[in-house]
Amino acid sequence: MPQYNPPLRDMQFVMHEVLKVTDEFKALPKHADVDADTINAVLEEAGKFAAEVTFPLNISGDTEGCKLDQTTHEVTPPKGFKEAYAKYVEGGWAALSCDPEYGGQGLPFVVNQCVYEMLNSANQAWTMYPGLSHGAYEALHAHGTDAQKKLYLPKLVSGEWTGTMCLTEPHCGTDLGLLRTKAEPQADGTYKLTGNKIFISAGEHDMTENILHLVLARLPDAPQGSKGISLFLVPKFNVGEDGAIGSRNGIYCGSLEHKMGIHGNATAQIVLEGAVGTMVGAPNKGLAAMFVMMNAARLGVGNQSLGLTEVAYQNALAYAKDRIQMRSLSGVKAKDLAADPIIVHPDVRKMLLTAKAYAEGGRALAIYCTMLLDKELHHPDEKVRKDSGEIVALLTPIVKAFLTDNGHISTNACMQVFGGHGFIKEWGMEQFVRDNRINMIYEGTNTIQSLDLLGRKVLGNNGATLKKFGKIIGALIAEEGVNEKMAEFINPLAYLADQMTKFTTELGFKGFQNPDEVGAAAVDYLRVAGHLVFGYFWARMAQTALREIAAGNADPFYLAKVQTARFYFAKLFPETATLMRTARSGSRALMDTDAALA
Ligand SMILES: Cc1cc2nc3c(=O)[nH]c(=O)nc-3n(C[C@H](O)[C@H](O)[C@H](O)COP(=O)(O)OP(=O)(O)OC[C@H]3O[C@@H](n4cnc5c(N)ncnc54)[C@H](O)[C@@H]3O)c2cc1C
Repeated sequence: MPQYNPPLRDMQFVMHEVLKVTDEFKALPKHADVDADTINAVLEEAGKFAAEVTFPLNISGDTEGCKLDQTTHEVTPPKGFKEAYAKYVEGGWAALSCDPEYGGQGLPFVVNQCVYEMLNSANQAWTMYPGLSHGAYEALHAHGTDAQKKLYLPKLVSGEWTGTMCLTEPHCGTDLGLLRTKAEPQADGTYKLTGNKIFISAGEHDMTENILHLVLARLPDAPQGSKGISLFLVPKFNVGEDGAIGSRNGIYCGSLEHKMGIHGNATAQIVLEGAVGTMVGAPNKGLAAMFVMMNAARLGVGNQSLGLTEVAYQNALAYAKDRIQMRSLSGVKAKDLAADPIIVHPDVRKMLLTAKAYAEGGRALAIYCTMLLDKELHHPDEKVRKDSGEIVALLTPIVKAFLTDNGHISTNACMQVFGGHGFIKEWGMEQFVRDNRINMIYEGTNTIQSLDLLGRKVLGNNGATLKKFGKIIGALIAEEGVNEKMAEFINPLAYLADQMTKFTTELGFKGFQNPDEVGAAAVDYLRVAGHLVFGYFWARMAQTALREIAAGNADPFYLAKVQTARFYFAKLFPETATLMRTARSGSRALMDTDAALA
């Protein structure tokens, strides 16, 4: 059976020692009084919840899956899920970083980020039920009318009702401009929606008394394509003006998908048969409103893989210390045993350190992003709000795609540490690999994230935001450029930061002549950008750790940090050279291939 220990020490290191989040919060009137003790206490409790309540349901949830009753269209999630959700609501976890006006606790997003990382490690499938609700909360909070907010937000904040996002249809996934679900205006100001949605996560269940579906659909006179999409709130049960639950609405689960992973989450085909809904935001501007939810979800999906990377690493590390096979190449290490523990073998260490470096680098980036989100919303200086928002927008596709690709690499590496036992269900490792796989696909595939990064976020504003982030990296390089102890971290980072401008300009120029050049380079580009960002955070973490060591702090945590930073820069970061080369090799080898692909 796998184990999970909440990585509280590492979260505290990133938040309080590297990013000094509470100092940053002092500038935000809303969070000025939030101190490290409060954050740590909340995370300790959340860690217990994850480890003790939802983690024990991870394997059983995977084995059991969700069941649909075809006659009632009701879905029953795996045993224990409903009770765990009730405990989650009772503990007030859903309300953590929500607006106090609607019953929230108003804590910074940074806290929510860490809570969700632990929940994802413990049980991704279960966590998607509250996770999607939080996205629905954010979309409604940003774009709902006062009446919608008053009626629905308190229920999402308390967790009494959950939410979904209904975008995908059988013929349309990436290209939402193709969607066909129709919304007919009614005399009373509501709309009747008709159509079919597929792959809707947490789309039906009996864990709460109501489900709020956020549905994209077209008005009768809507323009073609993505400019003709509106957003609607469609509850499973109609809700009276007084908030009382009324009749069953015409939206139900037609079937459940049989899938590779996240079996405990109901991936529903949703049928709308004249379902009553109200519009959220302006007509034909639904995609913009839904983007609030999609951006939150993209960061959330990166966080899912961060959680899986961490839990896979913890289990692989424990196994590698215990499993004995063969002797070390450099001589016997465990004389009393018939063979050495496999952790003595260089490649086993490489697999373990890959997952550790990707988990800890991802944690630093994810916490940094949510700290910027807190600043974007609550900083009194408009320029800081704007700059923070722009950098989050730049980093969002990197969090989504780089963390999930790294999750794929890491969970596979950790499974490999187990040899054949990793492939066997009882160890739990193959589930981490399977559960992670969807993270690279949904919420916009990682290819789409890379096009968003290179095409929109970088070339779309002539590299202006990239330059802003480049300045942040430049400040660290200037600060540490002459520190010999930091050279092994700062030199490769400085080299890549310097290359990045030329590399980006070159791709922009080629893309201007032939847009397929952008498509051909984008995935490699995102990975290079991901390493640039990770390189920055690993250098900062090494800086903090080296300073503690220099000050005489003998806590092995700091030495471990320096060793992991060294591994990251020596063994993972250098793939940027190959990626830049393949990106530069252009589109011809892909597009001039009609004969090869005939
Ligand atoms: C388990 C699960 C849960 C999901 N949950 C939800 C949910 O809650 N709500 C919801 O609305 N949807 C959900 N989805 C749908 C998911 O978001 C889509 O599957 C995803 O966005 C891709 O769409 P598609 O499957 O139609 O693939 P397609 O759009 O058909 O894409 C197929 C391939 O073509 C590539 N491609 C497409 N266009 C381009 C392009 N312009 N350039 C380069 N490559 C391109 C894609 O990257 C992909 O590799 C879920 C899916 C699954 C499997």
